[in-house]
Amino acid sequence: MNSPNLETQFNTLRNAYKAEPFPTLATRLDRLRRVKALLLDNEAALCEALSSDFGYRSIDQSSFADITTTVKSVNHAIKNLKFWMQAERRTPDFSLRMSGAKTYVEAFPKGVVGIISPWNFPVNLALSPLVSVLAAGNRALIKPSEITPHTSALLAELIAKYFSAEEVSVVCGGVEVAQEFVKIPFDHIIYTGGETVARYIMRDAAENLVPLTLELGGKSPVIVAASANLVYTASRVAFGKYFNAGQICIAPDYLLISKGQLEEFLIELKSAVEHLDSSTGYGDAVSVVNPRHRDRLNDLVSECEADARVVRFSGVNQSDYQLTVVIDPPSHVALQCSEIFGPVLLIKTTGDISDQINLINEGSHPLVIYYFGKSEKEFNRVARETHSGGLVKNEIIFQYANDDLPFGGVGGSGMGKYRGEYGFKEFSNNRAVYKSGFVDISGFITPPYSGMFRMVNKIMRKI
Ligand code: NAD
Repeated sequence: MNSPNLETQFNTLRNAYKAEPFPTLATRLDRLRRVKALLLDNEAALCEALSSDFGYRSIDQSSFADITTTVKSVNHAIKNLKFWMQAERRTPDFSLRMSGAKTYVEAFPKGVVGIISPWNFPVNLALSPLVSVLAAGNRALIKPSEITPHTSALLAELIAKYFSAEEVSVVCGGVEVAQEFVKIPFDHIIYTGGETVARYIMRDAAENLVPLTLELGGKSPVIVAASANLVYTASRVAFGKYFNAGQICIAPDYLLISKGQLEEFLIELKSAVEHLDSSTGYGDAVSVVNPRHRDRLNDLVSECEADARVVRFSGVNQSDYQLTVVIDPPSHVALQCSEIFGPVLLIKTTGDISDQINLINEGSHPLVIYYFGKSEKEFNRVARETHSGGLVKNEIIFQYANDDLPFGGVGGSGMGKYRGEYGFKEFSNNRAVYKSGFVDISGFITPPYSGMFRMVNKIMRKI
């Protein structure tokens, strides 16, 4: 660790943890209530900062996606924390049970957790992990994204106002700071961001054997089954690309549909986009975050222009970037393998459900798979024959609104899960506790081994 500030911030948190390694329920609830107060007292300023960072971001979308979703997580934790903190009884092995032994699992704080957050939901993705981290009794050092500097600076200011430096602090800065940050010997790091950086983080964290939760993205597919209602499917896909201008890790990335359904789907998608435009107007829109990302999206599309059908939907009110659909580009283009993360949709025409499952399995495991259709049998096949962090039937994005569901990826889309009780467990040391009973049975396994030992050894295999 080179930066003196970073070192001081971390040591302050580490010493405070050592002085109070197991905060009481009351202390944890107080910290959670302060997260809620920070959000509700400063909602207008946070939404304003978010809009400045994006160029434009609907105040209502920010209020819902960054403030409400996080407050909901705080409420859920406050309601359930007492139960999560209770030790979980476990059944000892038969012979040990007979001796009166007792076993249970008790969650202890890990210590100081590093939170590295991205730009797309800069408040929620910094503070929602914080809810789980604080519920589990830890301290936290947050490194928010440099791509949203107004929001990150405001978060730093507000955290310093609502929390002491012994509880939570924020360090702002770019890649150099981030690289220093991951060299700190944290007790755990949660990183939300892209896959390439995740590889660097894993390498650096390995030096100190720091456990990681990696919340990554990837290409989340939408399966359109033969039985799908195309009007409904198109309206949900349009929403997924409209909300936050599709800059969401769980936004639909590519869509698998039969050739026979394609034209009708495009007509319905056009009408869904027009409906969003006419009923909302620019006030409810969100911009692509910066020129670099706009150029990135343009490059993804223009590479396909010569060899694929490209459809641009004319109503531009939904964001400063028209929803653009690219159909069946060649396999070598970047759009086929890079995460889109914006208002561009890749469509691949396919055969039946077996073909769709095979296509999904050719790529790395997505964060979520969306299935649109009426067949429970097909849905169950998708569940059993693919891997993904989440699986959703006939909806887009709404799974994130559930604090009682774990959130996270698998393989290329990440590792570890958080939110709700899963988050509490992720940031806890779930310690195995064994208390010996009133009968001393150690004589059975202590040499010299007798006939009794050999008999017990054989019996133990049968029970
Ligand atoms: P970003 O550029 O804001 O980076 C994320 C964080 O990583 C920032 O705080 C940044 O400073 C830090 N960082 C950059 N370089 C680093 C390095 N070398 N070492 C350590 N930290 C470093 O955001 P991004 O990566 O563009 O985020 C978009 C990606 O995040 C997408 O792939 C998206 O799918 C994914 N994402 C995932 C989730 C999820 O919950 N699974 C949520 C949102 C976004």
